[in-house]
Amino acid sequence: MHITQKISIIKKNAANAQLVVVTKHQSVDVIRQVYKHGEKNFGENRVQDLIKKANQLPKDIKWHMIGHLQKNKVKYIAPFIYMIQSVDSIELLEKINKEAKRNNRRIKCLIQYKISNAKNKFGFTKDEIEKLFNYDYYNNYNYVQIEGLMAMASFTNNKIEIENEFKKIYELFQQIKPSKKILSIGMSNDYKIAYKLGSTMVRIGSFIFN
Ligand SMILES: *Cc1c(COP(=O)(O)O)cnc(C)c1O
Repeated sequence: MHITQKISIIKKNAANAQLVVVTKHQSVDVIRQVYKHGEKNFGENRVQDLIKKANQLPKDIKWHMIGHLQKNKVKYIAPFIYMIQSVDSIELLEKINKEAKRNNRRIKCLIQYKISNAKNKFGFTKDEIEKLFNYDYYNNYNYVQIEGLMAMASFTNNKIEIENEFKKIYELFQQIKPSKKILSIGMSNDYKIAYKLGSTMVRIGSFIFN
C-alpha cells in the first residue's frame, strides 16, 4: 500500500484529530514525498536528526519534538520548533522559556504525562500535573504556551489495559480543560482506541512507512 493511502486511512479513522507524521528513521526524500502530499506536521525524537532534516526541507513544515529533550539542547531547536510535546520536568520548561525569550518567540508545549510506571521513564505524575495547572504555575513562563497533554500507553498488546490508561489520561485532560485543547495520544498500534477515547492529536510513524 502506498504511503498516501495509509495516511488516508488514518484520516478516515481519526477524522478530527491532527495527524503528526513521525518521521524518525525516515530519509529527507521520503519526508518530502509526504510533504508534497500535503502533510505539514512532522515529529522527530532526536534533536540532531530534527535539525538536520529541518535544514534540508521546506520552512513551512511544523516540527514537533516528541522525544526526551536534554536541557542543553533546547537552544538548537528554540529558533524554529513548532511544538515541544515532551516537556517532562519543570527545569526543562524553565529552560525552554529562557531560550524562547532569547529568540523572541513563544514556543507551544505539551506536558508529558507518565501514565505507566514501568515503561516510560519520563514525564510528570498525575499529582504533579494537577499542581502545575491548579496553581497556574506555568503562568510564570511568558514565552511558553502550554496547549495540553501528551502521553504514551504502556507497551502491551492488552487492549483493555491500553483503554484503561487512555481513560485515565482523558480524565486528567478534562480536569485541565477548557483552556487546554490538545490531547496528544495514539500511535500506530493504538491510535484508533486513543481516538475513540478523546485524542485530538495522533503521532504515527511505522504504520505509514513500514
Ligand atoms: C516513535 C514515536 C511515535 C510513533 O510510533 P509508531 O508506533 O511508529 O507510530 C509516537 N510518539 C513517540 C513519542 C514516538 O517516539
